Amino acid sequence: MDSYRWELPLSSAELNSTGYTHGNAKPHLFNQNTGYSHCGRYWQVPNYTDEVEYTGIEKHFCKRCLKKYKKIQE
Ligand SMILES: [Zn+2]
Repeated sequence: MDSYRWELPLSSAELNSTGYTHGNAKPHLFNQNTGYSHCGRYWQVPNYTDEVEYTGIEKHFCKRCLKKYKKIQE
């Protein structure tokens, strides 16, 4: 069973696939086994950053990842 958690995309080039963090970066739901965000936009080292707590404010989170999140909450 895969586990997921919300994380902000990292700003270090060594630790993620983009090398930078957008100013308006939203948390994405990262698969802790593969390191990929559910939406496929990011990869980063699993369990490296702090987990971001889901606040319930949907617009503050990645829309595509949110769909997956809701599914695994059921
Ligand atoms: Zn996402």
